[in-house]
Amino acid sequence: MAITEEKLGEVLGVYPEKVLVNRRRHIVLKEPDTETAQQIEANTRTLPGIITNRGCAFAGCKGVVVGPIKDMVHIVHGPVGCAFYTWGTRRNKAKAGDDGKNYVNYCFTTDMQESDVVFGGEKKLAKLIDEAVAIFHPNAISIAATCPVGLIGDDIGAVARAAEERHGIQVLAFQCEGYKGVSQSAGHHIANNMLMDKVIGNSDVETCDEPYAVNLLGEYNIGGDGWEIARILKDIGYHVVCVMTGDGSYEDMKLAHTADLNLVQCHRSINYIAEMLEIKYGTPWLKVNFIGIKSTCDSLRAMAAYFGNKDLMQKTEEIIARELARIQPVIDQYRKVCEGKTAFCFVGGSRGHHYQGLFSEIGIETVLAGYEFAHRDDYEGRLVIPTIKKDADSKNIPDLHVEADPKRFRIKIAPERLAKLKEKFPFNEYKGLIVDMKEGTIVVDDLNHFETEEFIKILHPDIVSSGIKDKYVIQKMGIPSKQLHSYDYSGPYSGFNGAVIFARDISMSFASPTWNYIVPPWKNQPFLNATINGGDQ
Ligand code: SF4
Repeated sequence: MAITEEKLGEVLGVYPEKVLVNRRRHIVLKEPDTETAQQIEANTRTLPGIITNRGCAFAGCKGVVVGPIKDMVHIVHGPVGCAFYTWGTRRNKAKAGDDGKNYVNYCFTTDMQESDVVFGGEKKLAKLIDEAVAIFHPNAISIAATCPVGLIGDDIGAVARAAEERHGIQVLAFQCEGYKGVSQSAGHHIANNMLMDKVIGNSDVETCDEPYAVNLLGEYNIGGDGWEIARILKDIGYHVVCVMTGDGSYEDMKLAHTADLNLVQCHRSINYIAEMLEIKYGTPWLKVNFIGIKSTCDSLRAMAAYFGNKDLMQKTEEIIARELARIQPVIDQYRKVCEGKTAFCFVGGSRGHHYQGLFSEIGIETVLAGYEFAHRDDYEGRLVIPTIKKDADSKNIPDLHVEADPKRFRIKIAPERLAKLKEKFPFNEYKGLIVDMKEGTIVVDDLNHFETEEFIKILHPDIVSSGIKDKYVIQKMGIPSKQLHSYDYSGPYSGFNGAVIFARDISMSFASPTWNYIVPPWKNQPFLNATINGGDQ
């Protein structure tokens, strides 16, 4: 069953008028391909009272972008609760490099108490930095500010500067208080600005001696995704200068200016750095997607076309043929279990799009998709960026102004050749999610708990891929739920091996007899009755 305008009206009809008008603007019923692109509202405040899946700016900065950098100690300056919920919950995997440094499994926090909020937490923060340096000897330190820190006005920048002088390492102070933006997206932007300003290029190394040098941006090595991508790239002959930031290192990130091409996996969380790297160093970026078999092959072919070397192109085809021959028969078996089923795919700011191809490759159609914290360009494509009006919340995070580096800016590819490649491949381009949705499907921005339940009741998806905040609500409705932020306990799901693991996990969800034993509570129990102010029941 598809959602019609009338049906949607019934779902939203329970909202007060103002809320209804607001939420309707965040929902698109996909029409047949028309000349005019369909518009959606995104990256605006969630209305009070609505139970959103979104996180805070601190979560986006520390939890997503900065936290996975393995050779840095990441300090959460704030109450322990903020720290605890960014401690390993995304399952960013990391292995120590040659220097043996990997602190990803630790949780460092000033654990602010009431007295710190009253009298200030700067001394406690300085003491923690000293202890962390003495015990762990990190290559650099990050400080992430949480809400109370911003409210009491601790000067974390001054604490960081003093610590840099004491210890001779970089200490980066991120003003990413949770309330800084409408979602975690603000935190991504804050993190991007700081890494670009203070880390990238902070090295005497001018060029990379290895051929086919690439940076992988917006890949967070959830469940080992980045390792599977690295395996494929290495087999073909690429040199990965740095990964931002899954299993990434501060030391490698300093060299990011030496790469010949930037690959952008998660557009939302890192497009700022991709843009700035092009302006400052002349490195173009390519929108890749290593989730799904076809999109992995497409990405590899676009990369090979960029470098234009015949041997590299041939090697790319050989690896693709080798991998497909190995995995396709296995995928075909799992497809038999999944064929004809439907999914909701509501994840993050890129994954809601990335996973649709992989679902389709195992026979599952996505009937509802959306993002928690995306902007209009993630839905409608980057063409709309100049038309997006900045509101007070987005102005809160200023763009970092960069210019061409007079010494290091290099034209990496002839402009005419890049223009030709752009006709075929997404260089410096992302077309967004809506264009790939089928007619009659539904796109929802900032899907909330009420709408999740209502859309499930209407569309009866066979599986919902979402996050931890609604996972168990969905399972209590008798429907399998696969977290695509953290992959529950599994992964990797990227590349060729990841596609097989994903197909296996999703098939297991359907094959499990568990769902036959679940009776949703509303089937046996009456809804609660109550009176308001002594009135009618
Ligand atoms: S919103 Fe504020 S208090 Fe809550 S987790 Fe984020 S930083 Fe901490």
